[in-house]
Amino acid sequence: MKSVSFAAKFRLYPVNTRELPETIKASDMTSTAAINIAHVGVHYRTQEALRDVNCIVKPGKVTGIFGPNGAGKSTLMKAMLGLVPVSSGTVLYQGKPLMQQLDRVAYVPQRSQIDWTYPATVWDVVMMGRVKKTGWLRSFSAVSRQVAKNALERVGMIEYCDRPIGQLSGGQQQRVFLARALTQQAEIFCFDEPLVGIDQKTQSVIFEVFRELATDKKIVLVVNHDLGESIAHFDDLILLNRELIATGSRQQVLTEENLNLAYGGKVMYFSDAA
Ligand code: ADP
Ligand code: MG
Repeated sequence: MKSVSFAAKFRLYPVNTRELPETIKASDMTSTAAINIAHVGVHYRTQEALRDVNCIVKPGKVTGIFGPNGAGKSTLMKAMLGLVPVSSGTVLYQGKPLMQQLDRVAYVPQRSQIDWTYPATVWDVVMMGRVKKTGWLRSFSAVSRQVAKNALERVGMIEYCDRPIGQLSGGQQQRVFLARALTQQAEIFCFDEPLVGIDQKTQSVIFEVFRELATDKKIVLVVNHDLGESIAHFDDLILLNRELIATGSRQQVLTEENLNLAYGGKVMYFSDAA
């Protein structure tokens, strides 16, 4: 644990986004290539989980949604994908509601939301990524099988093809779900807490793939809560605590003030990541 002298280490750009963030130019807000999240609010019965969240998610970047437990990170991702109803706001991609374009999205939910006892092999899980392209009742084409093989090779899991998914380690399971996302050949990749409970090798594979996707001009959006060294792999950040605290480049967002606002002064450590 070490405390941080932010001012000494970083060029600080305070980005308080209760109004429109200074770092987001008007041209960005209407950028058709980006996802535009405008005034999104979500309520669960009586509880307000998100209030008036405004931000954009750009292609070609690895974007992290950060914030403490219960900040609404998963809720924001789900609201974007229509998995929970919004009480206000819109989410547009290329100028149209994202919810109407979900065939362009690959989503990997939080581990806790996946049924690991489901009797599927690694191959079954990865081929599920091809269902949208092929349909359930048609047999998978040679192309689909090749795409799935390439994805499993990419994440170093090809030799586990016939293993039941429930028998793998957490890191291996996460890599299989990453492979499934890759087979979808999506434009937008959404991952909820992919770094929880994984090994070092999986972490390197995951960040390599994220970087390749970003280089390929995809949108890569990743929920994470850990402010450790892995934060250096993110280009842009969305810092949440029910409301948007800050958004912009990693350097812009990682200020002491913003982290205090999000984590309530509980942040003791993070490295030279910014
Ligand atoms: P995070 O992913 O940042 O940990 P969540 O988006 O899961 O946070 O949750 C935000 C808040 O909404 C939390 O207080 C959580 O308890 C609440 N919440 C999440 N899902 C539900 C639900 N299905 N029903 C009721 N409350 C929920
Ligand atoms: Mg969550």
